[in-house]
Amino acid sequence: MRKLLLLSTLLAVAAVNAQNTRIDKSFEDFKVRLLDACWKRYPEYAIYFGYGKYYDKPAIPNEDYFDGNLAFCRQWTNSLHAVPFHQLSANNQISYRIIENQLRLFEWQIGTLKSHQWNPANYNIGNQSYMLYTQNYAPLDKKLETLSAFLQYAGQYYKAALKILDRPTKEHTLAAISQNEGALTVFGKALNDSILAAHLSTADKDTLQRRIQGAQTAIKEYISALKGMVADSNYSFRSFRIGAELFNQKFQREIVTDYTAKEIYSKAVAAKKVYHKEMFTLANQLWTTYCSGLAKPTDSLLLIKTVIDKVSLQHVAPTNVFDTLNSQLKAMKRFIVQKDLFDFDTLAPIIVREKQAFSSSVAMASADFPSPYQKSSAAYYNIADISAMPPAKAESMLRENNDYILQILTIHEGVPGHCLQGIYNSKSPDIIKSVFRNGPMAEGWAVYAERMMLENGWGNNSPEMQLMYDKWRLRIACNVIVDYGLHCLNISKEDVIKLLRNEAFQEEAQLEEKYQRATLSQVQLCYYFTGATEILALREDYQKKAGTKYRLKDFHERFLSFGTAPVKYIRERMLSKPL
Ligand code: ZN
Ligand code: ZN
Repeated sequence: MRKLLLLSTLLAVAAVNAQNTRIDKSFEDFKVRLLDACWKRYPEYAIYFGYGKYYDKPAIPNEDYFDGNLAFCRQWTNSLHAVPFHQLSANNQISYRIIENQLRLFEWQIGTLKSHQWNPANYNIGNQSYMLYTQNYAPLDKKLETLSAFLQYAGQYYKAALKILDRPTKEHTLAAISQNEGALTVFGKALNDSILAAHLSTADKDTLQRRIQGAQTAIKEYISALKGMVADSNYSFRSFRIGAELFNQKFQREIVTDYTAKEIYSKAVAAKKVYHKEMFTLANQLWTTYCSGLAKPTDSLLLIKTVIDKVSLQHVAPTNVFDTLNSQLKAMKRFIVQKDLFDFDTLAPIIVREKQAFSSSVAMASADFPSPYQKSSAAYYNIADISAMPPAKAESMLRENNDYILQILTIHEGVPGHCLQGIYNSKSPDIIKSVFRNGPMAEGWAVYAERMMLENGWGNNSPEMQLMYDKWRLRIACNVIVDYGLHCLNISKEDVIKLLRNEAFQEEAQLEEKYQRATLSQVQLCYYFTGATEILALREDYQKKAGTKYRLKDFHERFLSFGTAPVKYIRERMLSKPL
């Protein structure tokens, strides 16, 4: 009797499992169909992710297109809701929620935020064109044919963009002008060399050249129309501040966290105080080494600043930045192997390269991940060419990125920050988590990586490194204060500059760059602090749970194995299962 009961229980469990497997299998099909439909609707993402399809025509940004996007989001949300969530595997439940969030975010961006109406920098064919002839998706001849097909829509594309714009912000208009000027460089020597090397017929080459010229004209006309707005003293631009309500909505949708924007803001303000206290102790300790003979300021912030200014004089020459970054990357790879911090896959190369002129990023450095659809490609650590800057600006940039900060930057962008995470990300079996990347997880990881490397002895715990690391952390906390302050508390440009100069000890070149960036983005500057706060809290709880079995490497490997999913979801997975 008991045996029979056991058997029937087992059979029932098996039946449920079989059904679950079937539901998970059909969910895999659903994901493939959804992504294909997504890349068809958003060809710029298809190109960005290296999908290899839907490359021959840009999305024309007219009313119909945006209405279609809204309908697309609603239709796919309905299809998603037909999937029995509770019967999915735990990993697929994460994917389900990521898809749901992503569709909700797309819909909110078009229906509520409407940045397609006020951000002219949304429109730029430079990056797509560049990827169409440099990406590794087809032989050169075929790539140039695709580029030729794509470029014939350039005129239509920019005309639609001008028409859909409705009182843009001045800040985004200026950014659009300079980024589209950058886009013109895409059609320069490198492309011409490719055309010369290709085996297209003369007629096809002529057509391509004509379309390239057409694209250049379209870009120039767009630029001059935007310049016209800026030159018109009667033109009424809208404010770049999106206000507390939209900011909070954006914060919830993009970050996916239980924290509110206000809570994170309060934490950042508190962190700033803690860092200042620690820096005061360190600066006092370093005073005689760096500032002997100077009168010691009584004001503690001024004391810190005086020491920072002296330590910052140690920096590389503009022409040595590339070599230095390369040798730092090598040393960091050795370090993480020695300290056994990761199962590091040395096969995927990390390449330092010059930041492209048409890049939408205004920061000095950035990282490009391997494309999820082209698993073999490298990760890139992009850096602005400092040797090409005017000497005063270059000097200021280099003091900001002095010998100590430059190491932290390389941890952040390279190893084990963005580039390493990007390599793990592209290994993740679930492409949903790779393509619908959670920015706060990625930035939080890079910020976590800095602290983790120093905890493990990178920089030999020197007081200089600690002081500069505090300065770096201060910048990350101030990112939140500036972002929330500008959009929700209406603080002025002067307030921002004062905060960054006097309380975050930023160099002059950094002040303008940060202010400009804060006016162009919303919530993005909160990613770093929020993500790192969540990851550190998770590591603490994971360590408690693992007890004597805790190993830092296991934490890293498990954490990175989920792809770039919101930390909140990774947390649920890492703490729910027995370790
Ligand atoms: Zn110098
Ligand atoms: Zn970053």
